[in-house]
Amino acid sequence: MAHIKLENIVKRYGDVVAVKDFNLEIEDKEFVVFLGPSGCGKTTTLRLIAGLENPEEGDIFIDGQRVNDLSPADRDIAFVFQFYALYPHLSVYDNIAFPLKAVKLSKSEIDAQVKRVAGILQISDILHRKPSVLSGGEMQRVALGRAMVRQPKVYLLDEPMANLDAKIRVDTRAEIKRLQHEIGATTLFVTHDQVEAMSLADRIAVIHQGVLQQIGTPHEIYNKPESLFVAGFMGMPTMNLLDAETTVRDGESLLRLCHTDVYFRLSPERQANTTSGAVENGLVFGIRPEHITAVGQSGNGTIPADVHLVEPLGPVNILDIRLGTHSETQEPILLRVRTHPTFQVKTGDTVLLNFDEAEMHLFDRETERAVWRK
Ligand code: ATP
Repeated sequence: MAHIKLENIVKRYGDVVAVKDFNLEIEDKEFVVFLGPSGCGKTTTLRLIAGLENPEEGDIFIDGQRVNDLSPADRDIAFVFQFYALYPHLSVYDNIAFPLKAVKLSKSEIDAQVKRVAGILQISDILHRKPSVLSGGEMQRVALGRAMVRQPKVYLLDEPMANLDAKIRVDTRAEIKRLQHEIGATTLFVTHDQVEAMSLADRIAVIHQGVLQQIGTPHEIYNKPESLFVAGFMGMPTMNLLDAETTVRDGESLLRLCHTDVYFRLSPERQANTTSGAVENGLVFGIRPEHITAVGQSGNGTIPADVHLVEPLGPVNILDIRLGTHSETQEPILLRVRTHPTFQVKTGDTVLLNFDEAEMHLFDRETERAVWRK
């Protein structure tokens, strides 16, 4: 059982505020992934929970108990670092067995546990080796194994798969997820890899510059971004984000993509949500490449535009479509559209576009928060 609560946590290193007024509750048995770019404060937050750092402000609770003053050893947490720290004089077997020996399990129980974990991590054949002769990926799996043999209240995993090659990474990812469900330990996992985050998490906490931007299920984070940062961070390619403005034509309220002839009708609800404050701050329109369809000129589409570039990616093509030209900089206003590779077009062709109106987003440029709620 481990419910974790962070309340108004602040952590500074000199002038750098690594964690800013962080509030988060993690349910018992939940798998939460901290996702964000390098330097956003993911590791620091994990180290605060482990007790390896102390917050300047705020409280940390595990199962309702304030743990700010508890040592790391008293928090019953297993921590796997990005940079694995193995005991160099011990074999792989003894490294993995170490936490079990510390709690005085019988030899046969230790043996069974070590072999089980080694099998999962595909390191059964290197149990006799010393860390100095292991590859980076092997060392990382041993460090993971050492955490997995224990059954702590909480697992804290800091980019534990950073050094694994692609195939083992995907296999280990599936194993970690399966194991976490089986063991049922509350798990916090740090990564800057959005695919890893989407595939592992019950909920993802997106962090930027020490600030928790949004916490939600992978579906919510991808489909209902609450900030410009989350919208622009998730997805490959990322969401199209274009300057927009409101206008009225023939008595009808419209949203116009700046420097283009693209207009959208505003439903009464969206019109009501597009407050004058947001309009004054400036608007950013967002739509994912997969929520626009492109068809040939004889097809059923509403917005004509020229193909600027075609990027064939195998299962899909990405088209860069030119919607207009910036009136001052003369830069093209480009939109990325995902198409099926059987849709054959080349640079310079004209296509007709359809936007999925239900999948449109609007953000306030100044506050960076979502203006429309989905
Ligand atoms: P990465 O993905 O690169 O590991 P991160 O998101 O985990 O990054 P943190 O390591 O938590 O980020 O760092 C957050 C900020 O705090 C960064 O600006 C970093 O330079 C700073 N920082 C972290 N640890 C220290 C320290 N011991 N002394 C000074 N500054 C630090």
